Amino acid sequence: MENQIPVAVQLTEKCAHCNADSKAEDTFCTQCGYPLKGTEAEQNKFISERQVEEIDMFTYNKTLRQASNTLYYLAGVFIFAGLIYFFIHKDEVDVVSVVVTNIIMAAIFLVLGAYSKRKPLACLISGLSLYVIVQVLNAIIEPISIAQGIIIKIVIIGYMIKGIKSAMEIEKIRKENNIA
Ligand SMILES: [Zn+2]
Repeated sequence: MENQIPVAVQLTEKCAHCNADSKAEDTFCTQCGYPLKGTEAEQNKFISERQVEEIDMFTYNKTLRQASNTLYYLAGVFIFAGLIYFFIHKDEVDVVSVVVTNIIMAAIFLVLGAYSKRKPLACLISGLSLYVIVQVLNAIIEPISIAQGIIIKIVIIGYMIKGIKSAMEIEKIRKENNIA
């Protein structure tokens, strides 16, 4: 007598939205949450919501890139400020400590900028915190510094706050759609 090997026959369908395989008994696509057994209206609603999210994602990613560029820009500002300080104060005793501090700050912002592609939220929050701390310290040491370049400072902080908001929205959308 021949052994009968039971073959599990599973009816699979493709999800109309993301093309993932789904089992016949699935009510929702396990990949994207598309209502496989929903009414046509429910399915259309799902697709139009996803389209809106895609447009949002595009805008959020753009804002995020601006914020990352702000981190690079700040790295440049610290290098530039360090150089200026060096040429003006090169005969003074504390010139080395100021220039070294500027180089360290530039290096930190460079790393944050580079790493912000992978961990945007953490990098932007760190960058913004660091920037604000530097401004506060400068204001304590030299109160007049707070007014210097006040518009550019507001723009920088604005870009970073917008970037942080976008990073949070992107994480939210990713969580909702199970995108790792
Ligand atoms: Zn799907």
